[in-house]
Amino acid sequence: MRELVLYDTMTKAKRAFVPIDAKKIRMYVCGPTVYDFAHIGNARPIIVFDVLFRLLRHLYGEAHVTYVRNITDIDDKINARAAERGVSIRTLTEETAKQFHADIAALGVLPPTHEPRATDHIAEMIAMIERLIRANAAYAAEGHVLFNVEAKADYGRLARRSLDEMIAGARVDVAPFKRNPMDFVLWKPSDDKTPGWESPWGRGRPGWHIECSAMGEALLGETFDIHGGGIDLVFPHHENEIAQSECAHGGAPLANYWMHNGFLQVEGQKMSKSLGNFVTIHDALKDWPGEVLRFNMLRSHYRQPIDWTERGLKESETILGRLEDRASGAEKASVAAPVLDALLDDMNTPQAIAELHQEKDEGALAASLAFLGFASDKTKNDKRLPAGTDEAAIEAMVAARFAARKAKDFKEADRLRAELEAMGVILKDGPEGTTWELKR
Ligand code: AMP
Ligand code: ZN
Repeated sequence: MRELVLYDTMTKAKRAFVPIDAKKIRMYVCGPTVYDFAHIGNARPIIVFDVLFRLLRHLYGEAHVTYVRNITDIDDKINARAAERGVSIRTLTEETAKQFHADIAALGVLPPTHEPRATDHIAEMIAMIERLIRANAAYAAEGHVLFNVEAKADYGRLARRSLDEMIAGARVDVAPFKRNPMDFVLWKPSDDKTPGWESPWGRGRPGWHIECSAMGEALLGETFDIHGGGIDLVFPHHENEIAQSECAHGGAPLANYWMHNGFLQVEGQKMSKSLGNFVTIHDALKDWPGEVLRFNMLRSHYRQPIDWTERGLKESETILGRLEDRASGAEKASVAAPVLDALLDDMNTPQAIAELHQEKDEGALAASLAFLGFASDKTKNDKRLPAGTDEAAIEAMVAARFAARKAKDFKEADRLRAELEAMGVILKDGPEGTTWELKR
């Protein structure tokens, strides 16, 4: 078996993955801003990093991998939508997060180890901003707190842009209280109608970038192994996360590997809310089984763009159906070595799928499909499990809930129970552990 090699956006090269501590692999992926249905483009990072999570658990052991994927539940789009609907932001974001969980469970995605909500970490954000002010990396001005980009000598390193170039390209309508046009907001004031929290700078709310820096630090520490997200997050979001965290941590790097998925496109254009060329996961699931959507996603390498077409989906349905028919009824063996090798090479899922076609042993095929998050026993799943979920996914959620209970994180344990219940899974806690069965 080969070693794991990952493409790192920071060095723009593939590098062997060397963990900080093989007993504590740590990964952070920027999660959704929950104000509306997620679209199928938003599902791409969720699926891509789910495959990486499964691979890391396989290599280092399930108990040794911590995966954090946050929920951004305070944001101006959320405030606007909640005001429009006349509901609290909590009502809106809980409803949207629930929909998101149902959507991605149908795509065969395992729950991350932790799913922090930004509004549960406001105190940590304020504390981090205070540290940045003390380090002269931030300043308060007119109710705002801004990050001072001149405090970070290598600002622009991830995006490979120099500060001078960025300043030259900055718009003319820069807020007058900014010392440098590239300085970005850490905290902003809220009026009476806008959600806000008390802070040393008055009642206000955090900027988006500081949310991830504070949640990452709270759950993974100062430096972790992998940070991921879509390619559009490189600048400014990840560049700013780096600036904040590294200045708050006396220069310690935020993450050792930066990974970014390419765009899911429609006729050559990025699928996005603003262009209006999107299909929600919820709607896509009315037309296709979740696993076909997942398979269609994984037929392209994660760094390449995908053109999302009806024709591609039909092909995926046929190919996956054929593979599943062959695996159906087989006793699961080990994951096929060539499949694993392909994944070790910077998650080469198209190569892994090509290897599935070559695999002669049905048991290895069944195990490999399950490993990639697909149903490995079609007849059984058709009868019993909801589309797109497999036994392994349910087992993983049951295990995650057990771990949460052990860690006395009852909120997380209840969330997982509710999510399982929504999938038709009933839990039975006993002295020997937790068993599950499907609702009749
Ligand atoms: P957003 O809600 O726009 O912040 O996006 C949430 C996540 O989805 C981020 O990691 C984005 O990079 C990613 N994303 C958004 N649109 C696409 C797309 N068309 N293709 C791939 N990833 C996307
Ligand atoms: Zn983030």
